[in-house]
Amino acid sequence: MESCTGCGLCVPECIYNAIKLEGDVARIDFDLCTLCGACVDVCPVGAIELLTFAKKTGTEDLDSFDGVWVWGEVTVDGELAPVVFELLNIGRSLADKRGTYLGVALVGSGVSELAERAIERGADRVFVVDAVEYRDFIEERFTDAIEHLVKRYRPEILIGGATMSGRSLMPRIAVRLKTGLTADCTGLDIDPDSGNLVQTRPAFGGNIMATILCPNHRPQMASVRHKVFSEAPVEASRKGEIVVVDASEIALEKLAKRLLQRVDEQDSGELSIVDADIIVSGGRGVGGPEGFEPLRELAHLLGGALGASRPTIDSGWLPYHHQVGQTGRTVAPKLYIACGISGAVQHKVGMQTSDFIVAINKDEDAPIFEIADIGIVGDLFEVVPALIKKLKG
Ligand code: FAD
Repeated sequence: MESCTGCGLCVPECIYNAIKLEGDVARIDFDLCTLCGACVDVCPVGAIELLTFAKKTGTEDLDSFDGVWVWGEVTVDGELAPVVFELLNIGRSLADKRGTYLGVALVGSGVSELAERAIERGADRVFVVDAVEYRDFIEERFTDAIEHLVKRYRPEILIGGATMSGRSLMPRIAVRLKTGLTADCTGLDIDPDSGNLVQTRPAFGGNIMATILCPNHRPQMASVRHKVFSEAPVEASRKGEIVVVDASEIALEKLAKRLLQRVDEQDSGELSIVDADIIVSGGRGVGGPEGFEPLRELAHLLGGALGASRPTIDSGWLPYHHQVGQTGRTVAPKLYIACGISGAVQHKVGMQTSDFIVAINKDEDAPIFEIADIGIVGDLFEVVPALIKKLKG
């Protein structure tokens, strides 16, 4: 404020009317200020600094936080979820850039031995809460435990999978810790000096990529979908520290609910699109539920799974767990065969990292051809049966 010249450039820049000129000095009303930072950029003499704002608003000392943490999600089968290995990969590179350690928050019942799995994938320290109260994934319980761990060990960053469980858990933790969360990130980087996590995610229906920072609060929290990053390699000889946290220290919230039964959405024996190496996917071009039959047969012959675009799901032609795209699953198979799918941006964000893409479409101008390795302009009801015939030999 001492260097403010009263030029007034910041006043119209503030859309919250938080800045007024008083005499020859600009005064900021902190009740109205949202810390958006627009005024910082226009001040010609550098009189406004966001960190100064943070102190004025009572934010804790950011330098007292240290470490990049991954939530070690455990599946119902008692294994670390595959997304955890992917997060350990990106987490390792963030931690190395920042010159800090990579930690894992591991909560569950009978999960202690998974700590070694995390260490051989790159973790330096695993914080374990192992108690019967955490046998089932009940969000309130896990929120209590991870809030306890974060408050005690103060990591600078906490990332988790944007899985069914992660989508429910991560926002609860962020609210408890009064910090920000960027959901469904497709890219993560770090400014090594400030420690700011540079979080990239699609916005406005996938039409722009937004870069989001959380400069005034810690930990910085982000969730990432399965298959966005590749898995960290296994290094069996790696050594790390296992910190066992006494579960009795954690204050448990009184629960108004309990788990009665677990129902699997996937038909038994059906390969999930998330796990499949080959996906044959259908769009509105299949014309109706019966139009998926040749695609199902092709998928079966190739040992793959059946995917679908959103309109086919919305029309009830297939159940939701087949949906690929922004509001469905993100997939990255070795081979993705798109049949009668136009290639809208919301579909592409869910499959464009596939190793090899084949597109079959009647319209030679369909956008899906822009990302296809092989494009077949033709009727899927001729092309797919021809492929099946060839495969059957
Ligand atoms: P269309 O765009 O109608 O394309 C059908 C294609 O089939 C056409 O290209 C046509 O030439 C071709 N075709 C027709 N008959 C044949 C034939 N016999 N042989 C060969 N080709 C043929 N979409 C998703 O898929 N996943 C999402 O997760 C998703 N999330 C969304 C989220 C938001 C917020 C919004 C706004 C939209 C979302 N959408 C999503 C919808 C998306 O914008 C598109 O509308 C959708 O992907 C189009 O689906 P489609 O390609 O099957 O249908």
